[in-house]
Amino acid sequence: MAATVMEIYGSKVFNEHEMRERLPSSTYKSLKATIEQGQPLDREVANVVASVMKRWAIEKGATHYTHWFQPLTGITSEKHDGFVSPQPDGTAIMEFSGKELIKGEPDASSFPSGGLRATCEARGYTAWDPTSYAFVKDDVLCIPTAFCSYTGEALDKKTPLLRSMKILSDQTCRVLKLFGKDINHVSTTVGPEQEYFLVRKEDYDKRLDLVLTGRTLFGSAPSKGQELEEHYFGVIRPVVSDFMKELDEELWKLGIPAKTKHNEVAPAQHELAPIYDTTNVAIDHNLLTMEMMKKIANRHGLVCLQHEKPFEGVNGSGKHNNWSFCTRDENLLDPGDTPMENLQFMVILSAVIKAVDEYADLLRTAVATPGNDHRLGANEAPPAIISIFVGEELEAVIDAICSDSPYAGPVKMKMDLGVDVLPKISKDTTDRNRTSPFAFTGNKFEFRMPGSAQNLSDTNFILNTAVAKELKSFADEISQEADFECAAAAWVKKTLTEHRRVIFNGNGYSEAWEQEAARRGLPNRKCTPDAMVALKEDKNIALMEQFGVLSKTEMLSRYEVEMEHYAKILNIEARTMLKIAHKQLIPAITTYMGDVANTAAAKAAVSESLSTRAEEKLLAALSGYADEMSDAVDALKAVADKTDAMEDKTAKAHAYHDEVIPAMDALRAAADAAEEICGEDYWPLPCYSRMLFYTE
Ligand code: ADP
Ligand code: MG
Repeated sequence: MAATVMEIYGSKVFNEHEMRERLPSSTYKSLKATIEQGQPLDREVANVVASVMKRWAIEKGATHYTHWFQPLTGITSEKHDGFVSPQPDGTAIMEFSGKELIKGEPDASSFPSGGLRATCEARGYTAWDPTSYAFVKDDVLCIPTAFCSYTGEALDKKTPLLRSMKILSDQTCRVLKLFGKDINHVSTTVGPEQEYFLVRKEDYDKRLDLVLTGRTLFGSAPSKGQELEEHYFGVIRPVVSDFMKELDEELWKLGIPAKTKHNEVAPAQHELAPIYDTTNVAIDHNLLTMEMMKKIANRHGLVCLQHEKPFEGVNGSGKHNNWSFCTRDENLLDPGDTPMENLQFMVILSAVIKAVDEYADLLRTAVATPGNDHRLGANEAPPAIISIFVGEELEAVIDAICSDSPYAGPVKMKMDLGVDVLPKISKDTTDRNRTSPFAFTGNKFEFRMPGSAQNLSDTNFILNTAVAKELKSFADEISQEADFECAAAAWVKKTLTEHRRVIFNGNGYSEAWEQEAARRGLPNRKCTPDAMVALKEDKNIALMEQFGVLSKTEMLSRYEVEMEHYAKILNIEARTMLKIAHKQLIPAITTYMGDVANTAAAKAAVSESLSTRAEEKLLAALSGYADEMSDAVDALKAVADKTDAMEDKTAKAHAYHDEVIPAMDALRAAADAAEEICGEDYWPLPCYSRMLFYTE
């Protein structure tokens, strides 16, 4: 197997190896300069690259190419163009020019833009991101691209991300220079852990709610849930194991370093984690992974659910964003061994703490989606309050620095400048607290709030930009100081003192924390409509404008897109519930009641002495639930119609949250109660127990 893995790894990718092998050396050098330093690619070079790339792709079976991009919907988009070009003599040749490689012009009028483009001037263009390798998928050469309007506005998730990576790199280089290091590039890295569910396709197909919304809108609790905790890291079902093997292979072919796979906490829930990579590449790979998961599940008679909350009462799915930044030689979140390394680490750490405290509200927007609203704060994922876990050892160091007192931790050390040799941070003590939304795990931060269905670009561009801003202020303030170490230590002390309120090492799921967080003045925005307002706040717009990541117009347009998206999702869910209730559930209950009533009548006809108590009790209960459902259906329809007709996007999203969701909950409660006592052969939706505990 080892040989085959090595053979297949990256076989569908036009990677560094292929470039070096196939490109003329001068072309290769120019392309490298573009990739590494962002230098523009000249037309001649682009033509050579395109032609070589085309030849390679055709060898891999490609007939088409596409500019693969990430519009604001978050998922990926592609429009396939053939290489084929008919000739006057009736034959055809395969063509692909440098121009086609570098720039594409999809008709973008149907992608959300939040009013950035009127439909009549809907043109946007896609531009090659040469730092993420092209690859072949389904006989199509896919070229990773960013998507902008002709006036330069970002219409996608990737553009601000690429901008933020450059900005964090620039500011970090300035800081490192003060530490005597001549570095010209710093990379940001991400390792996304992807959770998902697998259910049988035959069950899935019977559930319109799963098909249309990705989650079950009805379903009474299974008689067994996750309480036995036997699924986590448990033996993997054979059918799932086959799926995972094929998935690994397909991912490896695409050069995606899929590394660990295991069962998760909930029954039928699993996780896949790759080895971390440069942020934009890691995110491209994560999106590809999600796509491959869905495709390959189908080949095994399964469906991969990536929604944050497919099943009520059962843990939902997240996507942990393991985040760090590094130079060629060092991970900047590694505390290091010498006093100078420690000082550098404390500067970086303080900048991250300050960034997260100052921009917690903005970071919260990155994880706000209707699906993720079901997870955050529901005792299975961190609450909607953003706090940082640093572990006991670092907390003791921070205490000592802030109070000018000697460090009293388990490891002896001097604290001359406020910082001297840090204790060794053992991974064990840093990784224990699973309830923290933003945890320091020894040499990286693990942001645990993102939802499983999300594109991680928002999270990372916000994080990168906020940290870049704090590092900039450090570099601006300190560069003039004569005694650098002293000034840096003082900056660390001041920054930690001002922002340590965001540090919390306790149980993030507890009610006491919610109260404590309120006392500390930390924002706690519980639902998407409440969270999104941060996109309109001056402080946040100023941050993005200061670094040219997003303009005010772009921020406001994103607010519109997100609020509209929220309303649309809720509207689809409400309509799907109505449809299922009307066309499937109420008829099922009625049929069952009819049969029960007929049985009772037949029994009475045979002999008056036969009891019909069981039938009567059942009928009374079912009839009661049917009435409740009928009333709940009317109420939901009325409130959904009213809300759907609202014009103002802000008021509308809030109305979906405040009025439509409670009406949906009421309908579900009545239906779930009916399911509990309705005959299984009558109930049209596969039940939770069967969906979650299939054997194969
Ligand atoms: P777990 O969170 O399950 O304990 P690990 O801590 O081993 O798992 O790693 C989780 C993810 O973090 C992996 O994708 C790993 O590659 C990634 N990771 C490790 N180091 C870094 C880093 N310096 N930057 C970003 N991600 C990293
Ligand atoms: Mg993790």
